[in-house]
Amino acid sequence: MNRIHHWIDGQLTPGTGERCGPVFNPATGAQTGEVDFATVAEVDAAVASAREAFAFWREVPVGRRSEILFRYRDLVDRHRTDIARLLTAEHGKVLADAAGEVSRGLENIEFACGVGQLLKGEHTEQASSGVDVYSIRQPLGVVAGITPFNFPAMVPMWMYPNAIACGNTFVLKPSEKDPSAPLFTMELLATAGLPPGVVNLVQGDKVAVDRLLAHPDVAAVSFVGSTPVARAIYETGTGCGKRVQALGGAKNHMIVLPDADVELAADAAVSAAYGSSGERCMAISAVVAVGSVAEPLVAAIDARLDKIRIGDGLEDPDAEMGPLITAEHRDRVAGYIDSGRADGAAVVRDGRPDAANLDGWFLGPSLLDHVTPDMACYRDEIFGPVLSVLRVAGYDEAVSLVNDNPWGNGAAIFTRDGGAARRFGFEAGAGMVGINVPIPVPVSYYSFGGWKGSLFGDTHMYGPEGIHFYTRAKVVTSRWPDPATSSVDLGFPRNR
Ligand code: NAD
Repeated sequence: MNRIHHWIDGQLTPGTGERCGPVFNPATGAQTGEVDFATVAEVDAAVASAREAFAFWREVPVGRRSEILFRYRDLVDRHRTDIARLLTAEHGKVLADAAGEVSRGLENIEFACGVGQLLKGEHTEQASSGVDVYSIRQPLGVVAGITPFNFPAMVPMWMYPNAIACGNTFVLKPSEKDPSAPLFTMELLATAGLPPGVVNLVQGDKVAVDRLLAHPDVAAVSFVGSTPVARAIYETGTGCGKRVQALGGAKNHMIVLPDADVELAADAAVSAAYGSSGERCMAISAVVAVGSVAEPLVAAIDARLDKIRIGDGLEDPDAEMGPLITAEHRDRVAGYIDSGRADGAAVVRDGRPDAANLDGWFLGPSLLDHVTPDMACYRDEIFGPVLSVLRVAGYDEAVSLVNDNPWGNGAAIFTRDGGAARRFGFEAGAGMVGINVPIPVPVSYYSFGGWKGSLFGDTHMYGPEGIHFYTRAKVVTSRWPDPATSSVDLGFPRNR
């Protein structure tokens, strides 16, 4: 049985063996490994290593930090297939999707390589007589990242490249469900020349997370996961005096106006709802069909579902959709087909028969029509391949659904009407809006983040807001006095 360890102080570090958990291949249902679960003492060892590294890392010149990140970027690029295979083996997403995840992670490393430009401050000469003022942004110290199962390589890359580029050191606690890909990237960081202790990884569960939140030497926490945990992490972390950004779950709407190109909208809805088996925080889970578009749109979506090939991404090169992460999660997701039917939705397609002959935790694409806002299949985040279609009479009703929803990660509109699209961009209550783009994940030089229950904290993740989160501002007021002009003055400093 493959035993998956921590990465502390620049080396693979076996756990004490006190606590561990199983790792599965969701496409077969077979256990493939066992992952160490960190104890409080192991988390403390990782934080101590990061704290010691911070003392010298913050003094390493910015250009040298970039150089290491450039080398890391090349190594990730060279090993993208290896990383993708690890992702597929433990998460289940098909290889092409896993390779896409690595590409989006790479973008964030590339962004961090430009840290010299990003850390530039401002300077005012002669703010007062003989006085110059300048602003700088300095690292926070040891920061922690806690990441979800659905993007085991990319979401950590939203965090640590920027964090270390800014001069912080980092402790990552990835999901215990698919721990091998993030661990492999630690080896690549070492190969790139990153000194020991600058990035550490502790495997584990709530025990490790709680210790990171309480640890007095951890200055900030970045979290991505479900909304209840995000809220708790934000409240506990800020209660302990830490800076926290905690990204939560989602219910992403795709509004289709009557003038939209139905075939294009159906392609987009199917890609965004069923890609990665719906286990994306930016997946479309609710299509809002406005007026006369509903009937042809539902027919066009349904027609595409026959052609989606589900299967084991490691064994079947043509598979387009993999399994769900656990048997329990698959059953929970499938339960929404039944609850939708019981609540009065029309089950256009039940994906269970498609998966009946497969060993792993599969569920075929499923489609519910005539869903209404009171139904559990609409109210809850399903996080699986069950797409709901809500039919509304007009644009205002459609936007109200987006704006009344407790989540606000992504929202998209499909239309040929530039005015309607512009209005939607102005009034949609979500942090990321797509116009004829179903999954509007920003490129790395913008920042990622939702509104409402999709994000707790002030700062979005990666991009410029990531640099802001991982640094604190300082303003230096300096004077190189001419002894001839020196005098005592008890008044409040002001311009002279
Ligand atoms: P999760 O909340 O169960 O776990 C996330 C992380 O928190 C993991 O590392 C896990 O070990 C840890 N954790 C779980 N329960 C905990 C607890 N009680 N106390 C402390 N730590 C705990 O989420 P998941 O199932 O891994 O990921 C899926 C969820 O993440 C979905 O809700 C999805 O929408 C969300 N997500 C959001 C974004 C975003 O950017 N907003 C991105 C990806 C995933």
